[in-house]
Amino acid sequence: MTVRVPAKVNVQLSVGPLREDGYHDLVNVFHAVSIFDEVVAKESESITVQVDGKWSDQVPVDDTNLAIRAARALAKHAGRTYGADLVIQKDIPVAGGMAGGSADAAGALVACNELWGLGLPIEDLMEIAGDLGSDVPFSLIGGTAVGTGRGEQLSELPTGGTFHWVFALANGGLSTASVYAECDRLRAATGAQVPWPQLNDSLMEALGTGDAYALGSNLSNDLQAAALNLRPELAPTLDAGRQHGALGAIVSGSGPTCAFLAIDATHARDLAQSLTATGAAHTAVAAHGPVQGAVLI
Ligand code: ATP
Repeated sequence: MTVRVPAKVNVQLSVGPLREDGYHDLVNVFHAVSIFDEVVAKESESITVQVDGKWSDQVPVDDTNLAIRAARALAKHAGRTYGADLVIQKDIPVAGGMAGGSADAAGALVACNELWGLGLPIEDLMEIAGDLGSDVPFSLIGGTAVGTGRGEQLSELPTGGTFHWVFALANGGLSTASVYAECDRLRAATGAQVPWPQLNDSLMEALGTGDAYALGSNLSNDLQAAALNLRPELAPTLDAGRQHGALGAIVSGSGPTCAFLAIDATHARDLAQSLTATGAAHTAVAAHGPVQGAVLI
């Protein structure tokens, strides 16, 4: 069984005040883009994982691997002991703010559901996914969707067209927890009142009509200041994208990947080339969205 599963970018990430339980209420608009991991599941006695591809040396292959955790959670849900050899072909940057681990968890759920002949409906997989992590349910469905609460209450959003993106990949990842901690630290230092997160209506309209210009000017990420504080070298990368005509430039999720919205596919290709040619990014990848979530191929 082979499942292809996409990366995501957050076109709006609004982070509410720190809650007493240590989490934040979010308004999180996810958008799935055409950078994919593949998860292959083969029959086996036990559950194992192997990771191939350019980022493989940064991914754990022990029980902390999110694909293993997903397969175990699925077997537990089914109430039986199952085995699977999972092989992940990794193309999504690791700890890059593009939900690569969540993608692999979603891929493992779909692949093992098929391999083990469980035939569980998407509703059941979504429930198991929600327990694995707040980005995992979105990786299952893909497209464009808004997550509220801790990000786990999801509603799909219709979009009026395809958007073209460039992603500048950084050397080395950023831990999501450390970026949230830096965001809290910066907010505490300024003492500013943190507003309750609200969905941006202009962004919704831009997504619905497929207006890339309007989407570009409405991209927002409350974690960006924290990610830039931890990685100051990202600021010139964002500036370079704007100078090369990006309609919007933003840190993707908790970073350090930077996302640039292009006018069309040709502009995306040119922008990717300019970013690498000028040294503003060592790797830049053109992609489009929205794309479907985890799918058997
Ligand atoms: P998000 O955008 O959801 O905050 P991210 O893209 O920044 O996440 P991931 O690539 O999902 O980060 O990985 C975060 C950490 O999870 C990695 O540093 C790695 O140690 C661990 N991890 C566990 N399983 C996986 C996996 N299958 N793929 C990638 N990372 C994994």
